[in-house]
Amino acid sequence: MNEIKNIYCIGRNYAKHAVELGNAIPEKPILFSKPTRALTVAKGQTVLFPSNRGEIHHELEIVLHVSKDVKQGDHVEDVIDKMALGIDFTLRDEQSELKKQGHPWLRAKGFKSSAIVTDFWAFPGIEACRNTNFSLTKNGDIVQQGNIQDMMFNFQQIIEQISEAFGLGTGDIIYTGTPEGVGAIQSNDEFRFYWGEEEKGSFIVSM
Ligand code: ZN
Repeated sequence: MNEIKNIYCIGRNYAKHAVELGNAIPEKPILFSKPTRALTVAKGQTVLFPSNRGEIHHELEIVLHVSKDVKQGDHVEDVIDKMALGIDFTLRDEQSELKKQGHPWLRAKGFKSSAIVTDFWAFPGIEACRNTNFSLTKNGDIVQQGNIQDMMFNFQQIIEQISEAFGLGTGDIIYTGTPEGVGAIQSNDEFRFYWGEEEKGSFIVSM
């Protein structure tokens, strides 16, 4: 993987996921970021997670790779060259506590290996994405499945919002939000990513 500059993430971008966590549906996207040290590529290996910090939830997401510095008026297809699937791992108990205290989410969202990603492939365009479901299996069973048609803020809006708020450019990646079905992980769980029928990567949990 080429050098990744920034990892941006969208919170609550699928209505059913906001509802499952008891959150209000936002009027504008909730944006946050993760340290690049959180990034781990899923290549079938065992990945170590914290075992003493409460529940850790998987959030399956489409990840976009930005290929050039984004200017006002740029379209998704001009600035996104690759995509992947990933998991925005979340220490859910710690996040709930941080939210209660009004503190930043970073400790709950930015720990090591909290940004798992498959290898990237050429971005097939928005229409192809609308025609393809993405899914995550745990020990052989589908636990999350999504389609970009269910996003509240589409790729174009996400790119415009991030670019306006922080700047967006070559080497940045964007986690675009999780559909419903998030849940806690356990040691020895095996996760596989699917784009349509095609497997894109896997890893095993060690805690
Ligand atoms: Zn997420």
